[in-house]
Amino acid sequence: MLIEGKTLASQIKEKIRQKVKRLSFRPGLAVVLVGEDPASMIYVNSKEKACEEAGFYSKKIVLSADISQKKLLQEIKKLNNDDKVHGILVQLPLPEGFDEKQVIQSIKPEKDVDCFHPVNVGKLTLIKRNGDLDSLLAPCTPKGVVKLIESTGEKISGKKAVIVGRSNLVGKPLALLLLAENATVTVCHSKTKDLKKETKEADILVAATGKPGLIKKNMVKKGAVVIDVGINRVKGKLVGDVDFDQVKKIAGFITPVPGGVGPMTIACLLENTLLLAKKNLDKGSGVC
Ligand code: NDP
Repeated sequence: MLIEGKTLASQIKEKIRQKVKRLSFRPGLAVVLVGEDPASMIYVNSKEKACEEAGFYSKKIVLSADISQKKLLQEIKKLNNDDKVHGILVQLPLPEGFDEKQVIQSIKPEKDVDCFHPVNVGKLTLIKRNGDLDSLLAPCTPKGVVKLIESTGEKISGKKAVIVGRSNLVGKPLALLLLAENATVTVCHSKTKDLKKETKEADILVAATGKPGLIKKNMVKKGAVVIDVGINRVKGKLVGDVDFDQVKKIAGFITPVPGGVGPMTIACLLENTLLLAKKNLDKGSGVC
């Protein structure tokens, strides 16, 4: 069965829009883009559009690739001090020459909508299962992945989840979230000895590698939930990391690319912004 990420994302976005209508203030998101990478420009524009549709205050800051690290940090400092902005997102990857780590750390943790700041990453490692994913600040893509799995109606608790990819953006935080949902989690990467052996055992299989068609039919357990995070352009067409046409014959549930994880990432970005905006109202409660 196909997991309709686009439909689920629209439902989440509509819920947020209704919540925002009832607020006495507008949640605000600032997106910072450095350089003119075409893919990044598309992502930033779609984030801006989603913000506007949800009734958020949205600020897009486009900086030339040849600005200095210092200037970029100054821009972030301004956003840190801007009361209208509750969430700050710096579109990654930054062009060569920038110190990405320093940039991420310059965002105030309480405005770190992507949940990449070490303070928020640390908090993520401490989460216990609470079942309330909506009110948890977690990186947008992994959060979206868990919601997609939940949408199938399949229980996560007790299942064997295999994640292929261990990036700080996707694989690692997803492992923490699935662990908190009581899955038994295996994280694979390019040095994994026998990838097929690992993936074949997965009740829940998530591919996040950026390698088109890496996951073949003979690597998937019959009836598994297969989530394809990968976005790859092959011969002008967007494809995932999973050989969709073959794997859909054996998977119980599978996400398409495009229209699977991508729209959920944006829906979760709005959810995180709203979360931070509300926390900001109740400053006494601290961060995330
Ligand atoms: P990274 O390049 O940071 O990480 C890729 C991971 O895949 C690494 O851990 C790498 O292993 C592993 N890997 C690479 N080749 C293999 C292989 N042959 N076998 C097993 N593991 C392998 O990528 P990201 O996590 O940032 O992104 C992954 C994909 O997800 C990309 O296509 C990206 O575009 C997409 N993406 C999609 C989003 C969405 O909203 N849909 C959001 C974010 C990303 P090692 O660590 O050993 O190098």
